[in-house]
Amino acid sequence: MKGAIGAIWSAVASGAGAMGDLVLPRACAACGSPDISSGRLCEPCNIALLTLVGLSYCPRCGTTIGPHIPIRPDGCPGCPNTLPRFTQVFRLGPYADPLRTVIRELKYHRRDTMRRRMGQLLGQLVASGTQDDQTAPQIVMPAPMHWRRRIVRGWDHARALAEAVGKELRLPVGNELVRLRNTPQQAHLPRSRRITNVKGAFAVKNADALSGASILLVDDVTTTGATANEAARTLLQAGAARVTLAVIAKSEPPTAYAQQASGA
Ligand SMILES: [Zn+2]
Ligand SMILES: [Zn+2]
Repeated sequence: MKGAIGAIWSAVASGAGAMGDLVLPRACAACGSPDISSGRLCEPCNIALLTLVGLSYCPRCGTTIGPHIPIRPDGCPGCPNTLPRFTQVFRLGPYADPLRTVIRELKYHRRDTMRRRMGQLLGQLVASGTQDDQTAPQIVMPAPMHWRRRIVRGWDHARALAEAVGKELRLPVGNELVRLRNTPQQAHLPRSRRITNVKGAFAVKNADALSGASILLVDDVTTTGATANEAARTLLQAGAARVTLAVIAKSEPPTAYAQQASGA
């Protein structure tokens, strides 16, 4: 998705969405350095973020692909045999620092400035990658958290991120997709169990609101895509016309991006 990068490049570099820094303790959200440059990150972390955002990736599976491999809308050689039910992935970068630490911060703490910034960058990435009305999303939908987990954590980070994305895209944020089962966290399971773990985990309430709609599903991280795939399947079954996925990061083996990130 190299073409989409230019549009958000300046926003990353300028630290757009840095409001609120005045009232927060000034430390880099990724490494804790007191020398913040912009957007709650220090200069080295901003540069590292730019490097991650600049990596090309497959629009079907979200995996980093080499600079000389053509980007094809129907996938890359590493795509799974059965393509996911969502038709496109938008990601800011691979799950590597500083994105890794930023995501952990967003998950367990209220980091309003950083959340706004991530939402803004993700929104701009989606806007620059969907220019025709046919594919542009109409509703932003957070990957839902089970109510029990939300009570324990006191906070629904995917919804908060989706709201920031919705604000950037000027789109409504839906609440029709709900989680029926409090499934074990995917990150704690081997790949082989992830599909069965989320099967039937979601449902749609008030399906009329989604009928024929193009939906942008928002989550913080995707790994195998099993959760997003099951959510997309549920949304399509309920009458949605199209589901695309926007995540801050794609978790993938470091070999997929390390060489490029180091400039090799
Ligand atoms: Zn830093
Ligand atoms: Zn792929």
